[in-house]
Amino acid sequence: MIRRIVVAVDGPAGSGKSSVSKEVAVKLKLKYIDSGAIYRSITWFILSIYGEIPDDIDFFRELASFNLKQEFLPNGTSRTYVNGRDVSGLIRDEVIAGNIGVVSDNIDVRNFVNGLLRKMAEEESVIMDGRDIGTVVFPEAHIKIYLDASVDERARRRVKEYKEMGKNVDEIAVKKQIIQRDNEDRSRKYGALRKADDAVIIDTSGINKDRVVAIVESIIKKEYPQLCI
Ligand code: C5P
Repeated sequence: MIRRIVVAVDGPAGSGKSSVSKEVAVKLKLKYIDSGAIYRSITWFILSIYGEIPDDIDFFRELASFNLKQEFLPNGTSRTYVNGRDVSGLIRDEVIAGNIGVVSDNIDVRNFVNGLLRKMAEEESVIMDGRDIGTVVFPEAHIKIYLDASVDERARRRVKEYKEMGKNVDEIAVKKQIIQRDNEDRSRKYGALRKADDAVIIDTSGINKDRVVAIVESIIKKEYPQLCI
Protein backbone atom coordinates (compact mmCIF):
# COMPACT_ATOMS: atom_id res chain seq x y z
CA MET A 1 0.00 0.00 0.00
CA ILE A 2 1.24 3.47 -0.86
CA ARG A 3 1.59 5.64 2.24
CA ARG A 4 3.12 8.73 0.75
CA ILE A 5 2.74 10.35 -2.64
CA VAL A 6 4.50 13.14 -4.49
CA VAL A 7 2.40 15.34 -6.78
CA ALA A 8 4.56 17.45 -9.12
CA VAL A 9 3.01 20.60 -10.59
CA ASP A 10 5.14 22.35 -13.20
CA GLY A 11 4.47 25.21 -15.57
CA PRO A 12 5.47 28.74 -16.54
CA ALA A 13 5.17 31.89 -14.40
CA GLY A 14 1.55 32.90 -13.85
CA SER A 15 0.02 29.58 -14.90
CA GLY A 16 -1.67 29.29 -11.50
CA LYS A 17 0.60 26.58 -10.07
CA SER A 18 0.92 27.94 -6.56
CA SER A 19 -2.70 28.97 -5.96
CA VAL A 20 -4.02 25.71 -7.40
CA SER A 21 -1.45 23.57 -5.53
CA LYS A 22 -2.17 25.28 -2.21
CA GLU A 23 -5.89 24.72 -2.53
CA VAL A 24 -5.48 21.08 -3.57
CA ALA A 25 -3.10 20.65 -0.60
CA VAL A 26 -5.72 21.93 1.85
CA LYS A 27 -8.48 19.80 0.34
CA LEU A 28 -6.49 16.57 0.24
CA LYS A 29 -4.35 17.21 3.34
CA LEU A 30 -1.06 17.22 1.47
CA LYS A 31 1.91 19.37 2.39
CA TYR A 32 2.48 22.16 -0.14
CA ILE A 33 6.07 22.93 -1.06
CA ASP A 34 6.88 26.06 -3.06
CA SER A 35 10.17 25.46 -4.90
CA GLY A 36 10.12 28.90 -6.55
CA ALA A 37 10.13 30.49 -3.09
CA ILE A 38 13.44 28.73 -2.39
CA TYR A 39 15.10 30.17 -5.52
CA ARG A 40 13.62 33.53 -4.56
CA SER A 41 14.95 33.20 -1.00
CA ILE A 42 18.47 32.45 -2.20
CA THR A 43 18.29 35.50 -4.50
CA TRP A 44 17.07 37.61 -1.56
CA PHE A 45 19.84 36.22 0.67
CA ILE A 46 22.63 37.09 -1.78
CA LEU A 47 21.16 40.55 -2.48
CA SER A 48 20.89 41.19 1.26
CA ILE A 49 24.64 40.57 1.61
CA TYR A 50 26.04 42.19 -1.57
CA GLY A 51 23.25 44.45 -2.86
CA GLU A 52 23.66 42.73 -6.25
CA ILE A 53 24.60 39.31 -7.55
CA PRO A 54 28.41 39.55 -7.89
CA ASP A 55 29.83 38.24 -11.19
CA ASP A 56 32.36 36.03 -9.42
CA ILE A 57 30.05 34.71 -6.72
CA ASP A 58 30.75 31.25 -5.32
CA PHE A 59 27.22 30.06 -4.55
CA PHE A 60 28.47 26.84 -2.99
CA ARG A 61 30.37 28.78 -0.36
CA GLU A 62 27.59 31.30 0.26
CA LEU A 63 24.97 28.58 0.72
CA ALA A 64 26.92 27.09 3.64
CA SER A 65 25.38 29.81 5.83
CA PHE A 66 21.91 29.67 4.29
CA ASN A 67 19.27 27.95 6.34
CA LEU A 68 15.75 27.60 5.01
CA LYS A 69 12.50 26.58 6.59
CA GLN A 70 9.16 26.47 4.85
CA GLU A 71 5.85 25.89 6.57
CA PHE A 72 2.41 25.30 5.19
CA LEU A 73 -0.48 26.31 7.41
CA PRO A 74 -3.91 24.62 7.46
CA ASN A 75 -5.46 27.88 6.16
CA GLY A 76 -3.56 27.40 2.90
CA THR A 77 -0.78 29.94 3.39
CA SER A 78 2.86 29.12 2.95
CA ARG A 79 5.66 30.93 4.83
CA THR A 80 9.37 30.86 4.11
CA TYR A 81 12.11 31.63 6.65
CA VAL A 82 15.78 32.29 5.92
CA ASN A 83 18.07 31.93 8.92
CA GLY A 84 15.00 32.42 11.15
CA ARG A 85 13.70 35.55 9.38
CA ASP A 86 10.29 35.47 7.70
CA VAL A 87 11.01 36.50 4.09
CA SER A 88 7.63 35.47 2.63
CA GLY A 89 6.73 39.05 1.62
CA LEU A 90 10.26 40.22 0.78
CA ILE A 91 10.83 37.51 -1.83
CA ARG A 92 7.82 38.69 -3.88
CA ASP A 93 9.50 42.02 -4.68
CA GLU A 94 10.10 42.73 -8.38
CA VAL A 95 13.84 43.17 -7.65
CA ILE A 96 13.95 39.46 -6.85
CA ALA A 97 12.31 38.48 -10.16
CA GLY A 98 14.78 40.75 -11.97
CA ASN A 99 17.83 39.02 -10.43
CA ILE A 100 16.66 35.43 -10.09
CA GLY A 101 17.75 34.19 -13.54
CA VAL A 102 21.47 34.01 -12.79
CA VAL A 103 20.77 32.33 -9.43
CA SER A 104 18.47 29.64 -10.75
CA ASP A 105 20.79 28.95 -13.72
CA ASN A 106 23.61 27.95 -11.41
CA ILE A 107 24.22 24.22 -11.05
CA ASP A 108 25.45 24.46 -7.42
CA VAL A 109 22.27 26.31 -6.52
CA ARG A 110 20.09 23.78 -8.34
CA ASN A 111 21.76 20.80 -6.66
CA PHE A 112 21.40 22.48 -3.28
CA VAL A 113 17.70 23.27 -3.85
CA ASN A 114 16.95 19.80 -5.23
CA GLY A 115 18.50 18.24 -2.12
CA LEU A 116 16.34 20.42 0.12
CA LEU A 117 13.19 19.60 -1.86
CA ARG A 118 13.81 15.85 -1.70
CA LYS A 119 14.41 16.07 2.03
CA MET A 120 11.22 18.10 2.55
CA ALA A 121 9.20 15.35 0.87
CA GLU A 122 10.58 12.49 2.98
CA GLU A 123 8.04 12.54 5.76
CA GLU A 124 4.60 13.00 4.25
CA SER A 125 2.60 13.27 1.04
CA VAL A 126 3.39 16.47 -0.78
CA ILE A 127 2.31 18.63 -3.67
CA MET A 128 5.26 20.61 -4.97
CA ASP A 129 5.23 23.28 -7.66
CA GLY A 130 8.04 24.54 -9.85
CA ARG A 131 9.59 24.19 -13.29
CA ASP A 132 11.51 20.89 -13.12
CA ILE A 133 9.76 18.95 -10.36
CA GLY A 134 8.36 16.20 -12.58
CA THR A 135 11.44 16.06 -14.83
CA VAL A 136 14.48 16.47 -12.52
CA VAL A 137 13.59 16.67 -8.83
CA PHE A 138 11.06 13.81 -8.79
CA PRO A 139 11.14 12.00 -12.14
CA GLU A 140 9.28 9.18 -10.34
CA ALA A 141 6.54 11.46 -8.94
CA HIS A 142 3.23 9.61 -8.54
CA ILE A 143 1.23 12.32 -10.30
CA LYS A 144 2.58 14.94 -12.70
CA ILE A 145 0.60 17.96 -13.78
CA TYR A 146 1.72 20.62 -16.25
CA LEU A 147 -0.28 23.85 -16.01
CA ASP A 148 -0.16 26.28 -18.89
CA ALA A 149 -1.95 29.46 -20.03
CA SER A 150 -1.46 32.06 -22.75
CA VAL A 151 0.98 34.93 -22.11
CA ASP A 152 -1.89 37.47 -22.19
CA GLU A 153 -3.89 35.58 -19.62
CA ARG A 154 -0.87 35.13 -17.34
CA ALA A 155 -0.03 38.84 -17.58
CA ARG A 156 -3.62 39.77 -16.67
CA ARG A 157 -3.49 37.47 -13.62
CA ARG A 158 -0.20 38.98 -12.43
CA VAL A 159 -1.56 42.53 -12.78
CA LYS A 160 -4.59 41.49 -10.71
CA GLU A 161 -2.33 39.95 -8.03
CA TYR A 162 -0.26 43.14 -7.85
CA LYS A 163 -3.48 45.19 -7.58
CA GLU A 164 -4.62 43.03 -4.68
CA MET A 165 -1.30 43.82 -2.99
CA GLY A 166 -2.01 47.53 -3.54
CA LYS A 167 0.52 47.92 -6.40
CA ASN A 168 -0.39 49.44 -9.74
CA VAL A 169 1.74 48.04 -12.55
CA ASP A 170 1.73 48.43 -16.31
CA GLU A 171 0.30 45.34 -18.05
CA ILE A 172 2.65 45.70 -21.04
CA ALA A 173 5.69 45.75 -18.72
CA VAL A 174 4.38 42.69 -16.85
CA LYS A 175 3.84 40.90 -20.15
CA LYS A 176 7.42 41.66 -21.20
CA GLN A 177 8.72 40.33 -17.89
CA ILE A 178 6.70 37.12 -18.30
CA ILE A 179 8.08 36.58 -21.81
CA GLN A 180 11.61 37.16 -20.51
CA ARG A 181 11.10 34.72 -17.62
CA ASP A 182 9.62 32.12 -19.98
CA ASN A 183 12.72 32.40 -22.16
CA GLU A 184 15.06 32.11 -19.18
CA ASP A 185 13.08 29.21 -17.69
CA ARG A 186 12.86 27.28 -20.96
CA SER A 187 16.43 27.77 -22.14
CA ARG A 188 18.44 27.13 -18.98
CA LYS A 189 21.05 24.43 -19.23
CA TYR A 190 20.01 22.60 -16.05
CA GLY A 191 16.43 22.20 -14.84
CA ALA A 192 14.77 23.92 -17.79
CA LEU A 193 10.99 24.23 -17.83
CA ARG A 194 9.75 21.29 -19.84
CA LYS A 195 6.67 19.11 -19.72
CA ALA A 196 7.48 15.59 -18.50
CA ASP A 197 6.38 12.95 -21.02
CA ASP A 198 3.99 11.44 -18.49
CA ALA A 199 2.51 14.73 -17.22
CA VAL A 200 -1.14 15.68 -17.69
CA ILE A 201 -1.38 19.10 -19.37
CA ILE A 202 -4.08 21.49 -18.23
CA ASP A 203 -4.44 24.72 -20.19
CA THR A 204 -5.95 27.08 -17.66
CA SER A 205 -6.64 29.98 -20.08
CA GLY A 206 -10.24 31.00 -19.60
CA ILE A 207 -10.89 28.43 -16.85
CA ASN A 208 -11.39 29.65 -13.30
CA LYS A 209 -9.23 28.45 -10.44
CA ASP A 210 -11.95 26.36 -8.77
CA ARG A 211 -12.39 24.34 -11.93
CA VAL A 212 -8.64 23.71 -12.24
CA VAL A 213 -8.49 22.69 -8.57
CA ALA A 214 -11.37 20.26 -9.14
CA ILE A 215 -9.61 18.72 -12.16
CA VAL A 216 -6.32 18.22 -10.29
CA GLU A 217 -8.16 16.86 -7.27
CA SER A 218 -10.04 14.33 -9.38
CA ILE A 219 -6.83 13.15 -11.08
CA ILE A 220 -5.25 12.46 -7.68
CA LYS A 221 -8.36 10.88 -6.19
CA LYS A 222 -8.78 8.57 -9.15
CA GLU A 223 -5.25 7.19 -8.78
CA TYR A 224 -4.94 7.24 -4.99
CA PRO A 225 -8.43 7.05 -3.45
CA GLN A 226 -7.03 5.65 -0.18
CA LEU A 227 -5.19 8.91 0.51
CA CYS A 228 -8.28 11.03 0.06
CA ILE A 229 -10.71 10.26 2.87
O1 C5P B 1 7.42 29.96 -9.25
P1 C5P B 1 8.10 31.31 -9.10
O2 C5P B 1 7.67 32.31 -10.10
O3 C5P B 1 8.06 31.83 -7.70
O4 C5P B 1 9.64 31.00 -9.41
C1 C5P B 1 10.58 32.02 -9.45
C2 C5P B 1 11.75 31.64 -10.34
O5 C5P B 1 12.48 30.57 -9.73
C3 C5P B 1 11.41 31.10 -11.74
O6 C5P B 1 11.27 32.12 -12.71
C4 C5P B 1 12.61 30.26 -12.07
O7 C5P B 1 13.65 31.07 -12.55
C5 C5P B 1 13.03 29.73 -10.72
N1 C5P B 1 12.59 28.36 -10.50
C6 C5P B 1 13.35 27.33 -11.03
N2 C5P B 1 13.01 26.03 -10.79
C7 C5P B 1 11.94 25.74 -10.03
C8 C5P B 1 11.14 26.77 -9.49
C9 C5P B 1 11.48 28.08 -9.76
O8 C5P B 1 14.32 27.59 -11.73
N3 C5P B 1 11.65 24.46 -9.77
